[in-house]
Amino acid sequence: MVASSVLGFPRIGGQRELKKTTESYWNGKVDQETLVNKGKELRSTNWKIQKDAGVEIIPSNDFSFYDQVLDLSLLFNVVPERYLKFNLSPIDILFAMGRGLQRKATETTEAVDVTALEMVKWFDSNYHYVRPTFSHSTDFQLGKFGLKPVDEYLEAKAQGIETRPVLLGPISYLYLGKSDKDSLDLEPLSLLPKLLPVYKELLSKLKEAGVTSVQIDEPILVLDLEESVRSLYKSTYDELSSVGLDLVLTTYFGDVRPNLDAIKGLNVAGFHFDFVRSPEQFDEVAEIVGDKIFSVGIVDGRNIWKADFAKASEIISKAIAKFGEDKVIVASSSSLLHTPVDLNSEKKLDATIKDWFSFATQKVDEIVILTKNAKGEDVSAEFAANAASIKSRTESSITNNPKVQSRLGEINESLSTRKSPFPTRLESQQKKYNLPLFPTTTIGSFPQTKDIRVNRNKFTKGEITAEQYDDFIKKEIDTVVKFQEEIGLDVLVHGEPERNDMVQYFGEQLDGFAFTTNGWVQSYGSRYVRPPIIVGDVSRPKAMTVKESVYAQSITSKPMKGMLTGPVTCLRWSFPRNDISQKLQSLQLSLALRDEVNDLEKAGITVIQVDEPALREGLPLRSGKERSDYLNWAAQSFRVATSGVEDSTQIHSHFCYSDLDPNHIKALDADVVSIEFSKKDDPNYIQEFSNYPNHIGLGLFDIHSPRIPSKEEFIKRIGEIMKVYSANKFWVNPDCGLKTRGWPEVRESLTNMVDAAKYFRDQY
Ligand code: GLN
Ligand code: ZN
Repeated sequence: MVASSVLGFPRIGGQRELKKTTESYWNGKVDQETLVNKGKELRSTNWKIQKDAGVEIIPSNDFSFYDQVLDLSLLFNVVPERYLKFNLSPIDILFAMGRGLQRKATETTEAVDVTALEMVKWFDSNYHYVRPTFSHSTDFQLGKFGLKPVDEYLEAKAQGIETRPVLLGPISYLYLGKSDKDSLDLEPLSLLPKLLPVYKELLSKLKEAGVTSVQIDEPILVLDLEESVRSLYKSTYDELSSVGLDLVLTTYFGDVRPNLDAIKGLNVAGFHFDFVRSPEQFDEVAEIVGDKIFSVGIVDGRNIWKADFAKASEIISKAIAKFGEDKVIVASSSSLLHTPVDLNSEKKLDATIKDWFSFATQKVDEIVILTKNAKGEDVSAEFAANAASIKSRTESSITNNPKVQSRLGEINESLSTRKSPFPTRLESQQKKYNLPLFPTTTIGSFPQTKDIRVNRNKFTKGEITAEQYDDFIKKEIDTVVKFQEEIGLDVLVHGEPERNDMVQYFGEQLDGFAFTTNGWVQSYGSRYVRPPIIVGDVSRPKAMTVKESVYAQSITSKPMKGMLTGPVTCLRWSFPRNDISQKLQSLQLSLALRDEVNDLEKAGITVIQVDEPALREGLPLRSGKERSDYLNWAAQSFRVATSGVEDSTQIHSHFCYSDLDPNHIKALDADVVSIEFSKKDDPNYIQEFSNYPNHIGLGLFDIHSPRIPSKEEFIKRIGEIMKVYSANKFWVNPDCGLKTRGWPEVRESLTNMVDAAKYFRDQY
């Protein structure tokens, strides 16, 4: 019979219990036993939710105290030497690898000071994993720090729940890792022959414990893979299958077709494919499945929309017609880790909109209903309700705004092109602002102090009036402006004290967005985010930032930089719609922002920064047309937002990830860009950016660290850059906004930075 399956459930708990307990443990407020028990409790709750809902294939080992890839590193003893010197317990080693550890010596313990391993984005999601780091001395061993997958399987079993353990497969595990600084000549995948016996040992242990089937994830199969990687699959899975467990090779987040040869005829019990992200792969991937299990990923693990039962059941029927009832599994497209836990805890959402959503707990029900339907059981009431929600969403005036839709038709080349090319603009900007060489500026935010948070909270709760809050914000702006004048910055900012978050602040003022009160999703470790949801066509009912910028400009004679979040970043850091393309959503946002940019200009704010920190991370996983399309619409969106202004208005942009390709940002045609750069010391990289045609500021200090660089350090750094840069296009600025820093560091760092710029001015 058709079976239902979930590939992974959020581990954070419905009320962020995992975060709360983990952070209390880190702060020494609760002991390890309390933490371990909280983990047990969360796993048990999650299994029970799925069991009670009627899921037949329930995952285990999808829980983690920090990150599932990091768990695997600990499981296989991929633990760099530096973490082993302090006699830490396994869970403390795990946390030290995940987030670093600094601890003062006590009477009984010595001081600890180790940095964390690198953390990187999990494919194109907002989740970050801790990168396995290999060296020549990596010595794979099983279970030195515990046997988590076996333990958790047995834990569920003891509760009467049979589970299917989830494991990241060996090829993906190695591929997603890197070699350590001292072993740069080491190719991680060359370690496969040493790793495989340990995987086999693990599978044997699982078998002994009673496991019959394992979900083995090979998500890298949706990337561009070289033949040398593809060719590893056959022999690897021959080996692993020899243990005698049913392995279901699981892929998600994309299209496997370009790597189909790698897994054709693979010695596994079945395959899972993501038909939410890539329905067009169905026929071709189905061809290689043969008489094996076919797991149909059909309920979206990456978004919050209700599944469309009619469409989903069509795909499921097609699978059954081809493979027969016994071979088909109805599943989530990926782990549900990327969705909030439970829609029922949303008390404030508008009922109409709420009816369109489905969070992890609801998605579990959807999977079960779709499975029942496939088995021929009567779920007509559920199907009817689903059809009604889908219809309500499709036809809603919240979703459809004819004005926005017709305005999209106005977008053309001229709407997305500045009046003159950069050299002409530069000339009129120079005339207008007469900035010195090495102009100095910051990226926007100043410290978000406790005072700011307290006042914002009071205002939200209605404990102070709007007028009182406005006065408070004005005072904050006064402080920030005065400080910048004192130390001699050239282009000032207002400091963003009124903003809770750079996307939420805009989303809350735009039509077409919805917000949750409890829709948390894990970003990394104990850091969770609560993304806004784009529910309909986006438009701007009124100006969003003009008041604060105009006030800030009114108290200084220096240019005041207006500050906006760009279309791509608003889109990427929200849950997007799934009924229209991301391109259209981005262009709608760009029109709303265009109005804001134009309003700012009208109000006398003529230096305007439009931040696009998420531009790089939105890059599609595969090269080729999809990627070039993305780059085109991303750049076009930025230009639509910023091209309505006069030549003399100076448009800035800012990017956080420095592994950017300078060519990708050229197309935005901003007058000045600033990029995160302080952690880059590769001289080639400086070179690479030196041919960026417009003006550029390479971030000069790390805003994630409380460290204060001296004037000399800034001079040295700028000096290095000046070896390859021409002085007349270089701006002096930090890496990013200063909101997470404290005033004392900010004061000193910026003073030193400005002094270094003055030093260079005298030299040129
Ligand atoms: N203007 C924003 C700030 O300074 C930019 C933040 C970001 O790039 N992440 O806070
Ligand atoms: Zn930034």
